[in-house]
Amino acid sequence: MSAILRKLRLRVVIRRYEVILFGCVVLLSGAVIPAKWEPPFRPYPLPLVEPLPQRPWIALTFDDGPHAGRTEQLLAVLKKARVPATFFVVGKMADRYPQLLRRISDDGHQLANHTYSHPNLSGLSDDNVIGELEQTRDVIQRLTGQKSTLFRPPGGDFSRRTVRVTSQAGYQMVLWSILSRDLNGTPPGTMRRRILQNAADGGIVLMHSGMPNTIAMLPDLIAQLKDRGFHFVTVSTLLGLPDMHRPDPAETPLLQTAAGKQY
Ligand SMILES: [Zn+2]
Repeated sequence: MSAILRKLRLRVVIRRYEVILFGCVVLLSGAVIPAKWEPPFRPYPLPLVEPLPQRPWIALTFDDGPHAGRTEQLLAVLKKARVPATFFVVGKMADRYPQLLRRISDDGHQLANHTYSHPNLSGLSDDNVIGELEQTRDVIQRLTGQKSTLFRPPGGDFSRRTVRVTSQAGYQMVLWSILSRDLNGTPPGTMRRRILQNAADGGIVLMHSGMPNTIAMLPDLIAQLKDRGFHFVTVSTLLGLPDMHRPDPAETPLLQTAAGKQY
């Protein structure tokens, strides 16, 4: 009896394999593949957000500048707090205020690319997307020597094609994980609370360089983030790219994350 059962079970197994085998043959023969079949979209590296969440690092980023008058105030706040930041600059603004661009760099901040004329990238041709980035990369390099491959699309607007084309050209898209919403006159206190509520290890804070409310809330924001154990780094440091602004381990031992975890 048990021998018959074993035989039956064996038969069932064979039948399953037969079905799988038949399916494979059909698939390989192309019988079920439509004539217009295309391989699925091959993902390129996704825009980076919170790339190293295990470290108590946070990156302050400022878009759209430099702005005469405001950028100087912003730099003074950062210098007093001894905090590095990343400036996603607009190329035509950098051309307009070359001294300010140099000052950002001389103060030890990272310069990154926010296109030349601040267009929506998803509506541009591939050539124009790369042209916008190249122009700004060249301005940054000519004026400061910094070689910038990081960029942030204006308005956060991008398509799959934008990611593919820019990635192929050697650029890396950077978005954000913490919004300040500082473009619409948000009161400084509201903005600061919003950022503090969302602050997390590896966070990238999106702010804008020409906003008086942003500059007003920044000293308290930095002080409270420091109290919570955050270390301020540039985006390059977050990404693990070579960067001269990496915190000195002797000064800022990474013993405890801002979330209280030990490493
Ligand atoms: Zn912008």
